[in-house]
Amino acid sequence: MGTYTTTKCGNCGHAFETLNYGRHSIVGPPKIKCASCNTINMTSFKLYRDMGMSNKIYFWIGQVFGTAIMGLVSFIIGVSWLYYMTTNGDYVKMWEIDNYIGLLILGGIPISLLFKGVFHIKDLSLVKKSCEAIEDLYDKNGGFILSDQYFND
Ligand SMILES: [Zn+2]
Repeated sequence: MGTYTTTKCGNCGHAFETLNYGRHSIVGPPKIKCASCNTINMTSFKLYRDMGMSNKIYFWIGQVFGTAIMGLVSFIIGVSWLYYMTTNGDYVKMWEIDNYIGLLILGGIPISLLFKGVFHIKDLSLVKKSCEAIEDLYDKNGGFILSDQYFND
C-alpha cells in the first residue's frame, strides 16, 4: 500500500527504491548503504524517533488528513454510484432481480469502494509499524539500512 520513491547511489548510480508509506517522505533511514557498491549514502530522511515534536505533529496531521481524504473520496464515489444507479431510469433495469450479472457488477463496485473507504483507516497503524521496522533494522545493521533490505521490507 506504500508508494515508491526512487533515489540513486551517489557513488555508482545504482537506483534505490525506497518504500514510503503514504505521504511521509520525511520519515526514513538517514543513511542507506548501497547494495551494489557498499557506499553509505546520506538521505534527507529522519528516523521517526529522531524527529522533533513539531515534525511529528506535522507528520501525523498529514497522515490522518491524507487517510481521511482517501477514505472519504472512496466512500463518496461508492455512495453516489449507488444513488445514481437506483435513481437513473436506464440503470434501474440493472437492479431487476433476474439480472444477476448486472447486480453483481454494478453492485459490487460501489460496495467494494465503500469498504475501501471504511478500511482505509487501517493504513494508519501500518505507518507506525513501518517506522518502527525501519528503526529496528537500522539499529541491527549498526547505523544504516541496506538499499535492498529497505526495498524488500
Ligand atoms: Zn552504489
